[in-house]
Amino acid sequence: MDLEPVIGLEIHVQLKTASKMFCACANVSDETRPNTAVCPVCLAEPGALPVVNAQALALGLQTALALNATINTRVRFDRKSYFYPDLPKGYQITQFHLPVGVDGTLAYDVDGQARSAAIERVHLEEDAAKLLHRDQATLIDFNRAGTPLLEIVTGPVFHAPGEARAFLEELKLLLRAIGVSDADMEKGQLRVDANVSLRPAGTNELHPKTEIKNLNSFRAIERALTFEVTRQAALWQTGSPPDAASTRGWDDMKGETVERREKEAAHDYRYFPEPDLPPIVYAQQDIERLQKELPELPAAKRTRFGRLYLFTEGDARVLTRDHALANFTEQVISELKDWLKTEDPKSRGATWQVHKREFTKLVANWLINRLVPLFGERGQIVPGKVTAENFAEFLTYVWAEEISAPAAQEVLTAMVETGADPSNIIDERGLRTVKDAQALAGIVDRVLAKFPKQVAEYRSGKTPVLQFLVGKVMAETRGTADPKIVTDVIVHKFQ
Ligand SMILES: [Zn+2]
Repeated sequence: MDLEPVIGLEIHVQLKTASKMFCACANVSDETRPNTAVCPVCLAEPGALPVVNAQALALGLQTALALNATINTRVRFDRKSYFYPDLPKGYQITQFHLPVGVDGTLAYDVDGQARSAAIERVHLEEDAAKLLHRDQATLIDFNRAGTPLLEIVTGPVFHAPGEARAFLEELKLLLRAIGVSDADMEKGQLRVDANVSLRPAGTNELHPKTEIKNLNSFRAIERALTFEVTRQAALWQTGSPPDAASTRGWDDMKGETVERREKEAAHDYRYFPEPDLPPIVYAQQDIERLQKELPELPAAKRTRFGRLYLFTEGDARVLTRDHALANFTEQVISELKDWLKTEDPKSRGATWQVHKREFTKLVANWLINRLVPLFGERGQIVPGKVTAENFAEFLTYVWAEEISAPAAQEVLTAMVETGADPSNIIDERGLRTVKDAQALAGIVDRVLAKFPKQVAEYRSGKTPVLQFLVGKVMAETRGTADPKIVTDVIVHKFQ
């Protein structure tokens, strides 16, 4: 039987607000001393009343707008009742009936193929406290209690683990671009639950789903989904597909999903409107203002980098992945354009319009393959050390072939370490390519004198030996000689 996976995602995003969702406590990180950012509201003391965080509302609304959702101009909070030690109120304040936004979409691509995923809803809610299990005891840290969360729920729209992963990677870029969250999965800022079921290919019915929890990296998501699809396929093949919804956890060490008893299993949440918070009505102009304040979204930026600068799709993707890197790239290009306007003889009359593709290639190559790796794995541009101006100037030397490839690498490394101007480094270390045939002739003579055997071989017609001699001269000049001129000088000696 041909089976098709059906996958839907529920994503919780920690919002980067100054304070908590319904009180003035600081929205602090895990590193803060436990139970220091607390007050009667987030500790659920009797009589304490919540107040909605306007910044969280704005961030939620902007995310919904960026996801092309239909905005509810009237939103409301609801109580979701359940009992658990991490929730002292006995209910969580969330949005059930009137969420921030519904029916959105997010375009993404899988292996170069464009897709669009349907988003069912975007809503705001509060996080629960954190439980720490130690030996026989359980400790509770209320710093996280009441911090703002945005939940994004997709439809059952993914049909392969790789699709779900590609979607999440795009969503992460979007959240970071808008600045609503750092969306670091390892830090729990982006938490994903995945619902998986299978169905015979070509049918549309949905079958009982399994919810997988505890997915804390993109890799884990793809592995867990792949495992679960295989597990369920085996059940289908034996004629006993899952007949009820279930919850499973992901064991990353074992590489398998494990059945779990859930605190909410078979629960009636008894949703009802939160009586302590009045409904909120947005003015159309507020929504328009937030829409206008949205920065350029990742997909649009990638497209622009391709169209405007002619970066390849892959290069555009890498260069726009990080906001600082994208800005740096554009500054470098702007500096190069200015340089071309100066009619520096070293530009050999190149113009931006005619040579755009070559310069773009130069920028992408030296930025992606050389400069970014020097900044370490994070791939971030460290402000101040290498300025866009200095990097652009460095590229003009490479373009003019005034420094060789190994010398260029040395210059760049020194720039990253010291922040110095490339021309100073080149001059101080004598790295400028020697193109003067007369200056090279003396060195060539010295080298040839050291290798009489090879010289004799060359004379007798063994031409490949020329490469060896050129290499020796290059080594003698520490790579600063122009290899074409060195070759000419040697050949000339034997004529
Ligand atoms: Zn509080």
